Amino acid sequence: MKLHCEVEVISRHLPALGLRNRGKGVRAILSLCQQTPGSQLRPRARGEPGSLRPACLLISTMKDKRGTRYELKENIEQFFTKFADEGKATIRLKEPPVDICLSKANSGSLKSFLSAVRLVHKGCDINASLSTLTPVKTSEFEKFKTKMVITSKKDYPLSKNFPYSLEHLQVSYCGLVRVDMRMLCLKNLRKLDLSHNHIKKLPATIGDLMHLQELNLNDNHLESFSVALCQSTLQKSLRNLDLSKNKIKALPVQFCQLRELTDLKLDDNELIQFPFKIGQLANLRFLSAARNKLSFLPCEFKNLSLEYLDLFGNTFEQPKVFPVIKLQVPLSLLESSARAILYNRIPYGSHIIPYHLCQDLDAAKTCVCGRYCLNCYIQGTTTMNLHSVAHTVVLVDNMGGTEAPVTSYFCSLTCYVNSSDVLK
Ligand SMILES: [Zn+2]
Repeated sequence: MKLHCEVEVISRHLPALGLRNRGKGVRAILSLCQQTPGSQLRPRARGEPGSLRPACLLISTMKDKRGTRYELKENIEQFFTKFADEGKATIRLKEPPVDICLSKANSGSLKSFLSAVRLVHKGCDINASLSTLTPVKTSEFEKFKTKMVITSKKDYPLSKNFPYSLEHLQVSYCGLVRVDMRMLCLKNLRKLDLSHNHIKKLPATIGDLMHLQELNLNDNHLESFSVALCQSTLQKSLRNLDLSKNKIKALPVQFCQLRELTDLKLDDNELIQFPFKIGQLANLRFLSAARNKLSFLPCEFKNLSLEYLDLFGNTFEQPKVFPVIKLQVPLSLLESSARAILYNRIPYGSHIIPYHLCQDLDAAKTCVCGRYCLNCYIQGTTTMNLHSVAHTVVLVDNMGGTEAPVTSYFCSLTCYVNSSDVLK
């Protein structure tokens, strides 16, 4: 019987010596083993029957594959199993005086392992489920690896699968042209680094990696980031996204639904504008989009609250003196109904109205007054000092400027006139 988990063996003498444990477990395989006569830890007491060889607990780690043995029979002072459902438990031994702290175990396996340990402690016979006392093979640990870094083609696994338990996978400089489907089965992945490859398109199924917090796609051939990905479970998990050194020209409006994003790198792409609802990324703290083709920032950019902002080397334009006027009186039926739907927050979807109308509504512009406009607006430009949205600002150009032009939309002449002092 075996259990895969993280283990930390803590001596109860440590506090008396003024020492503390590391507080961090290591990957280990625990086995309940049948001791061979020669492997007895303590000499058999006189009168003890020779045939009764009590099972022991063997803890093997990558560094110590032969493992360390602990007697169990009548040697357990206490079990701490309150958090067994979370895969954690502690076994307190009498001799040696140590606490064996188990964590990150599968809760079901942990519970059955603990009941077997309990039986051995009580001296019951569980011979049927005992393992042999042999060193654990490296391949057994491989299966439970949580981190894997591959940085050359020759190390890329072609014939065998990635360990299912991986939480952190890096595959760089391997010339990948697409995301390997085998990676998308790794449901525990938190960090996926596919930087320095030739990936052109991302499969929507990346969105099924529900724990994915960090996605690094630096230095690939991506041309887009799909709406499907923006609307996947990544909305709840994704915090760090690195899309720098790709060929992305635009991000969809829905990109701003990735609300958990804190770090976003878009340097060295071909972006001509930010998604205009970027202000909705309320958790964003680090934003860099150096060396793109941004000519204006969207008005909502003012809603960001960043620690770091780098927009160096973009092709920012001078604010236009005259506004672009696209007002129409009276408003068209489409325009006035769109404004009403958005203002009254009436739910819509492609099951009620045509899909292209949903897209139009998603792309509606926000006026400074808080109302919305679709195709009928006045567009004005102004400049903003980037220090108003970020603590640390990398200079926008070599001239030492931290000002950038901003596009604003107005739903009516009144709104424009009222704000025109802001514009000047
Ligand atoms: Zn307005």
